[in-house]
Amino acid sequence: MPAPYDLHSHTRLSDGILSPKDLVARAAAAGIRGLAVTDHDTLAGVPEALAAAEGKPVRVIPGIELSVTHAGREFHVLGFFLDPGSPSLAVLLERRRDDRISRVREILAKLKRLGIEIGYDDVAAMGDISGTLGRPHVARALVAHGHAGSLDEAFARWLGRGSPAYVPYPRLHAKDGIAAIHGAGGVASLAHPALDDGDGVLESFQSAGLDAVEAWHPSHGASQVARFLARAESLGLLASGGSDYHGTGEGEIALGDPGCPAEAFAALEARSRRPSPR
Ligand code: AMP
Ligand code: FE
Ligand code: FE
Ligand code: ZN
Repeated sequence: MPAPYDLHSHTRLSDGILSPKDLVARAAAAGIRGLAVTDHDTLAGVPEALAAAEGKPVRVIPGIELSVTHAGREFHVLGFFLDPGSPSLAVLLERRRDDRISRVREILAKLKRLGIEIGYDDVAAMGDISGTLGRPHVARALVAHGHAGSLDEAFARWLGRGSPAYVPYPRLHAKDGIAAIHGAGGVASLAHPALDDGDGVLESFQSAGLDAVEAWHPSHGASQVARFLARAESLGLLASGGSDYHGTGEGEIALGDPGCPAEAFAALEARSRRPSPR
């Protein structure tokens, strides 16, 4: 049985495969009651997802997954219950979208110096430029042009941190990303916290305004889920959960597996209604 709520999913407006409409149809078919659409650095898929949920037994929660920098490292912060029309968030996201386009061009320039010629249009064709582009689109182009056998290999050989065509993000400090989520009426949760579980990471994100931690994620085994739930409780953070669904068909990832239990979802929603400033 999948969990009733899934608070982490991607569409083709970032690095997912499905259109927002198809994602929502799949969630409804899977029995999901609430789905947060959380594309990387864009809200572009939210209007179509909201429209697709009308008349269906699934509720769409406008969300996002923001790439932020903290202590010189990269983290992802999820935002839920956002006002999709927030002007302040729109300004920030427009800048991030341009930053991502410049970053793809820098990656392509590095690849060219390494003897690999891939055009910007080849990368853009792997996604939807009304949303955001990222390394996964470059990885798909590398595979399509025979420079890597798989997406994993493309990341390992060329695109991952420490690889020759790696380009870091222009900085968005964690505090500013979290403030942008709050400014749009949302709740902020640290995504897949096991990826970088260095000393004091959760504590410093909490000082930066974090509301919750993503305790349920496909990369977490049962003991990690228990550990993050315990740490959230001791810090006074809420817990979120989602499948990080990309619709790619790979692995065992299914909507709602894992997801977010109803009580945890209710606590997050209650927090979103807290009057600002918080
Ligand atoms: P970006 O936001 O452009 O830095 O790209 C990061 C995204 O790439 C992550 O959110 C994942 O969806 C994806 N990703 C990271 N590492 C890998 C990998 N080894 N294989 C496939 N996808 C990956
Ligand atoms: Fe992704
Ligand atoms: Fe992520
Ligand atoms: Zn994600």
